[in-house]
Amino acid sequence: TPFGISMLERIEAAPKDAILGLGEAFKADPRSEKINLSVGVYQDEHGKTPLLECVKEAERRLAANPTTKSYLPISGLPEYCKATAELAFGAGNEPLVSKRVAWAQTPGGTGALRVSADFIAANLPNSTVWMSEPTWPNHPQIFNAAGIATKTYPYFDAPNNSLNLAGMLAAIEKMAAGDVILLHGCCHNPTGIDPTAAEWKQIADAVFARGVMPLLDFAYQGFGDGLEEDAVGLKAFSRPGAELMVCSSYSKNFGLYRERVGALFVVTSTAAAAASVQTQIDKVIRSNYSNPPAHGGEVVATILRDPELRKQWEGEVTTMRNRINDMRHALVEALAAQGVPGDYSFMTRQRGMFSFSGLTKEQVEALRSEYAIYIVGSGRINVAGLTPANIERVAQCIGEVVGQT
Ligand code: PLP
Repeated sequence: TPFGISMLERIEAAPKDAILGLGEAFKADPRSEKINLSVGVYQDEHGKTPLLECVKEAERRLAANPTTKSYLPISGLPEYCKATAELAFGAGNEPLVSKRVAWAQTPGGTGALRVSADFIAANLPNSTVWMSEPTWPNHPQIFNAAGIATKTYPYFDAPNNSLNLAGMLAAIEKMAAGDVILLHGCCHNPTGIDPTAAEWKQIADAVFARGVMPLLDFAYQGFGDGLEEDAVGLKAFSRPGAELMVCSSYSKNFGLYRERVGALFVVTSTAAAAASVQTQIDKVIRSNYSNPPAHGGEVVATILRDPELRKQWEGEVTTMRNRINDMRHALVEALAAQGVPGDYSFMTRQRGMFSFSGLTKEQVEALRSEYAIYIVGSGRINVAGLTPANIERVAQCIGEVVGQT
């Protein structure tokens, strides 16, 4: 070229993100009967991803009283972090009272995970991060991008559609002291299978006995059994003096996906350690995105700190959760009504937005190519994509592809 050797033209295209790529394929599909059950976004009974009423009201209030667009602190809005910590841990939870929590408002749950990964890489460089098999595909990508080694532990008991607790506990016993175990706080993505309260306690006992650091990814609080109920796993780890990390997200439960609203909490054993850790968190953020976007955090803080708006929000979360759980039951009934062989009642025991359906790769492919129904290759169905208008067709088409193989 006239500019000498090209540095860029030999760069090969990266593979498309498996899940986001499916969304693009769905958009481009001309078939009018198409149904998208692939993306991880809540949809209402009309197939729309709603803007919550409490969010609209908070935005009206913020717009009516604008203050400044100056930078937030590196760790974000303090009142947002405090309200978020109280929602996740429960107000009055010992680590908060003892001031042994370092925190940051982050750009979404993904941002929290990436900050935690950078923090681990800088401060715990020999730690391997263990993740459930299966897990959200972005988990290994985020930690690998930060230069951290990742390994997997067994989680899913496929034949019984349940938790492989024995396999998980055996794997924890073999982890090295100083490693990190990534757990889904609730609504495990993609399986929809969560430990019971008693199982959480067993897992926490094993993790702490081994000297392993728990890292909870808490992206669906309120989508399982309730806002408080869904924190049962986190509370199993939040023991006096115990260290843990939590990455939370408001993408789903506030419907604030594109505003990028999340938080990282690092619970240390003493208040002095929390102060040091806070400086290290600030350091990794400063060289990454410097400080978080303000709007989403202001919206959430406005809602959580206003009793009336908060009540409205809790109602809206309940509506989303109930709709998803109703659709679980409706799908199981519709599959039975279509005479689809097999017992699908496990779907009603799964929690969160997803159902691991047990459909094979071939069946998933046939659903897409023959029936324009999009689900993820692992067989993960976004239950929130089901509506009274499409559920019968989904059940019928699942029946067709199950019957073919
Ligand atoms: N963790 C899990 C398991 C998720 O499924 C998601 C979203 O799909 C996230 C974290 C992060 O979401 P966000 O970065 O949009 O807050």
